[in-house]
Parts: sequence; structure tokens; C-alpha cells
Amino acid sequence: MSTANINPANAAATPSYPNQVTGMWVLAKALTMVGVQDMYGLVGIPVTDFAYVAQEMGIRFFGFRHEQNAGMAAQTYGYLTGKPGVLLTVSSLGFLNGLTATINATVNCYPMIQISGSSERNPIDLQQGNYEALDQLAVAKPLVKQAFRVNDPKDIPTAVVRAYRAAVSGRPGGVYLDITTPCLGQVLDRDVAESLFYRPVDMCPAMVPDPEAVKRAVQLLAQAKQPALLIGKGAAYARVEDLLKQLVDKTGIPYLPMSMAKGVLPDDGPQSALACRSTIMQEADVVVLAGARLNWLLSRGHGKWSPDTKFIQLDIDPEEIDCNRPIAAPVIGDLRSSLTAILAELPDKIAMDPAWTAKLQAETKAKNAKFAERLQANVAASPMNHWSALSAIKPILEANPDVILVNEGANTLDDTRDAVNMSLPRHRIDCATWAIMGMGMGSVVGAATATGKSVVAVEGDSAFGFSGMDFSTICRFKLPVTVVILNNGGIYNGIGVNLSHNGDPAPTTLDINARYDKLGECFGADTYYVTTPDELTKALTASIASKRPTLIDVQLAAAAGKESGHIGYLNPESLQHIIV
Ligand code: ADP
Ligand code: MG
Repeated sequence: MSTANINPANAAATPSYPNQVTGMWVLAKALTMVGVQDMYGLVGIPVTDFAYVAQEMGIRFFGFRHEQNAGMAAQTYGYLTGKPGVLLTVSSLGFLNGLTATINATVNCYPMIQISGSSERNPIDLQQGNYEALDQLAVAKPLVKQAFRVNDPKDIPTAVVRAYRAAVSGRPGGVYLDITTPCLGQVLDRDVAESLFYRPVDMCPAMVPDPEAVKRAVQLLAQAKQPALLIGKGAAYARVEDLLKQLVDKTGIPYLPMSMAKGVLPDDGPQSALACRSTIMQEADVVVLAGARLNWLLSRGHGKWSPDTKFIQLDIDPEEIDCNRPIAAPVIGDLRSSLTAILAELPDKIAMDPAWTAKLQAETKAKNAKFAERLQANVAASPMNHWSALSAIKPILEANPDVILVNEGANTLDDTRDAVNMSLPRHRIDCATWAIMGMGMGSVVGAATATGKSVVAVEGDSAFGFSGMDFSTICRFKLPVTVVILNNGGIYNGIGVNLSHNGDPAPTTLDINARYDKLGECFGADTYYVTTPDELTKALTASIASKRPTLIDVQLAAAAGKESGHIGYLNPESLQHIIV
């Protein structure tokens, strides 16, 4: 092992053995062999030296302040590139902190690999206690797509390839790779180690659908009078915007994106039925689900949905079919293969009623006009509310379509999603299927480093709090990221009432007078504290142009916002009088 491979702090004490390498070296080399270029994490015993070795081999290492945020960066990298994002964690608590993100990646079908050091097996298996002892594989296994443990450095190359394949093939997901401390530190002869590596072939094979399934789907679509295309983030991930455009151009079918599929086809395109979700649920006779699950975000196919609507579902995972409602025409395959086959089979004209499109277009026009009125009506609100803030944010983001938008919060999420039209695929990242908070600062780092693009995060004040310390990571790596915090001083809002009246804050109350801009200042960011839409316009315009780390603290009224917008059934009626 060369002295340059290890923490310079220990270098003097380490002899040089050019003909020998460690498990850490094998791991770093194995990652480069499968094309890993970036890694996110937080070092400590037993992985610190591994991060040094990986950097020396040319892998970029983005060090964070909390493993969950590093994991959120890795999962966002996975979603945006189609290659697994790699997270590195230490044993026990670091592993657990990072695992949250690996599970979230699994829930959301993002490819990701969490590599964690773990303490030696014997005392764990005998439950004798050890430094940071935890049976990590057992913890991770039921919660992630796949999990492996490596005890022998000679197995590392195989384990890395298997982890990669598990993360990206079929339905993508999070994979856990446990590497024990003795394995990381074990010394091998270099020539033995070199003989272990190989370049794997076809890591994410195409999955071609059954022609019968394609025929069944085409027949159903061709005879539909009022069809709709529902685009999910699986389609964004699969990069099939070209084929979806062909489908829309050929058939005229109206489309409705799920939140992260906004922009796969333009939100303001002529066939966009973004504003007509309820009408589609109630009146569409055939709905094509392209990489979208009929899950809670779509009322599991019930609620407003007409019982007569028939579904064509394009998905890579056969187990997804019929999970909430019978699917008339499942097409199992990767979306590129499935859409290609459907387009080849589809007649030049389908039976769609032109009145259907006209109706949706009229509804869209009316809804958009109402929405514009709503934004306008709030411009002068003082203090600002979410709509006045969005009256400034919306035109700037729409004029900068290449900027990636990261979005989390309650009202901040609902209102920003509704207000800001996206026109490019994979430019909107939010808290997605699990509806978790705390993906923000991690996701922006993942998005900026995976794409080299500018990123704007629009964050609720509560949401920001979960990952706020990793604003420092944005600054350390000098990323072109602007974080806009809409501060209404609480979870949902800042006017909750403590029913005991003992002077403590209510459970939903946070910090309406916090100056988040000062937090930005301490890490050397450009900062703004704004109280009007005009000031926000100037700040956001300047920050996007500067490409410098920026934090904009937007002061809202404590009364702005209500308990989680569109999912009233989850909010107990009995408390509405306190919170609204
Ligand atoms: P949304 O939240 O936008 O509705 P979901 O995450 O619920 O999206 O659904 C994404 C779906 O896309 C999952 O069921 C997943 O299996 C599927 N999927 C992911 N990648 C592919 C692919 N390459 N081809 C086909 N389906 C895919
Ligand atoms: Mg808030």
C-alpha cells in the first residue's frame, strides 16, 4: 500500500508496501471498474482511509454533515443519471442515518448503493458488545431491494457488481453493501487483487414486453373515446420523453404528469391536461399509466376515479399490476421497449373524440386564468404568503427551464408544484412517494453534482430544518445552488395554539423570527432576507445569474399556510379549528 493511500495524518507511521494492497483498495478499484465517479458520505472509523483511497483513484467524494443528507444526494444522483448513487457510511449510527435514504430510494425506485463499514462479526454474532456493534445486514435486509455482506476482500469485486446490478436492473432500488472492518483492512498481494477484477457486461438489460400484451394494450387504446396518458417519474427515470412525445403527437392523447414527471412533456403544451386531474379521474375511459403507480397519490385507483375507467399499465415490475385495482392491459417491460412496441403496433388514427380534447383544453384555459388571478391577488399581501412568494418565483423559474427545482415542505410543496410549470424532463425533484421531509440539502447536492446544472431549492422552514446544516456542504463544494426558505414559522404555519397555555410553543410552532440568512452567512454564502415579491425577484434573479451558493430567507406571515393541502382525509377534523 502506498503512503499516499491513507490519511496523511497517519502517513508517517505507515510503511510502504508497493506489492500489497488492502480491502479498501480493492473496494475503490472495484467501484471504478463499474464506472463509479462520485460518492457521497461521512467518514469515520472504519471507512476514513477508504475515502482517501477512493479520492486518490479519481472518485469524487462529497463529505456531508449528516449521513441522511449524503444518502439523499446519492439517491438523487441515481434518479438523474440512471446509475447507482453511492453512499458511504460508518458503522452503527452512521449506517442507520444513511439507511433512511436507502430505504427512501427503494420506495421511490431510485438506484442507489449504500456501502457501510461494520464492526467485526464475532463479537456481534455472540452479542458480546464491541465498538459501534450492530448487525447491520439484518437491519437493512427487510427494508431495501437487496443486501450483501462481504467478509473477504477477494469477494469485493463480485459484491460490487452484484450490488450495481441489483440497484439498476428491473425495478431500480436501494442496495446495502456491508463490508466488515477486518475485510477493509485485510492485506492482499497486489497481483492476487488485480486478478479479481473484470468488466461486467450488460448491467441493465432491456426487458422486452410480450407481443400479446402489446396487442391487448393497443386494441384498448385504439378504441378509447376519452383516453389520457398518466406520466410517472418511472418514465422520467427511463428517459423516454422522445417516445412519449411520439405517442402524443400521433394520437393527440392528453397527458397528466405526476409531480416529478412534470416537464417530461411540457406542462404548458397543447395536450397537457395538468389542470384537469379530477376530470380525467372521473371521465377518462382508458388511462395509460406510464411508469406511475396507482398508489396513494392516485387514491389507489378509487376515490374520484370512475369505476368504469380501464387501465393500460406500462411498468417494469409485474408485481405492481392489479395491486390496487384491476388492470385491463398490463404491459411488462422497460418503458423504452414497451413504448417502442406500442408505437409500432398503433394505428395511424385512434377513435378519440375531438370534443374530449377540446373540453380539457377549455378547462385548462379557465383554470390557468383563475390561477393567475390568485397569484396576482396576493402580490401585495403584507407580510407575504406562499402565493405572493410564488408570484415572484414562478416567472423566474419558468424563464430558466434548465435550472433544476428541488421542492419540499407542506404548503410550500403543494403550492410550488401547482404554480411552477416545468418544460424539461428530470428538472423537478421532490419528497415523492414516501412524502418525507428532509431530502432538500442532500438532493440539491446530488442534483448539482450529477448534472453540473444550477439548482434552486424551494423549502418550507420546517422542511429545511431537517437537513439545514448541510447547506455548508453546498458552500464547501461551491455549488451553483440557491436555497429559498419560505418561513411561516412552523409546520403548516406558525399560529398553532398550545392547549395547556403554559407558555410553551404549540407542537407545530417553529421560529417565525429566525434569520436563516445568517446561517448562510456563516458558511460564506450570498444571503438575502426579503419581505416583498419585488425583493425576492431581485434576489433570485441575481443568485441564479451568480451561480454561487445562496440562501434567500423569505419572510412570510405566521398565518400563511394550512395543514397539508390536498390530503384532507389524513388531517383529523377535530383539530382543524386550532391549525387553520
Ligand atoms: P410516480 O410517483 O411519479 O407515480 P412511481 O414511483 O409511483 O412514480 O412509479 C414509478 C414506476 O415506474 C414504478 O412502478 C417502477 O416499477 C416503474 N419503472 C421504473 N423504471 C422503469 C423502466 N425503466 N421501465 C418501466 N417502468 C419503470
Ligand atoms: Mg412552514
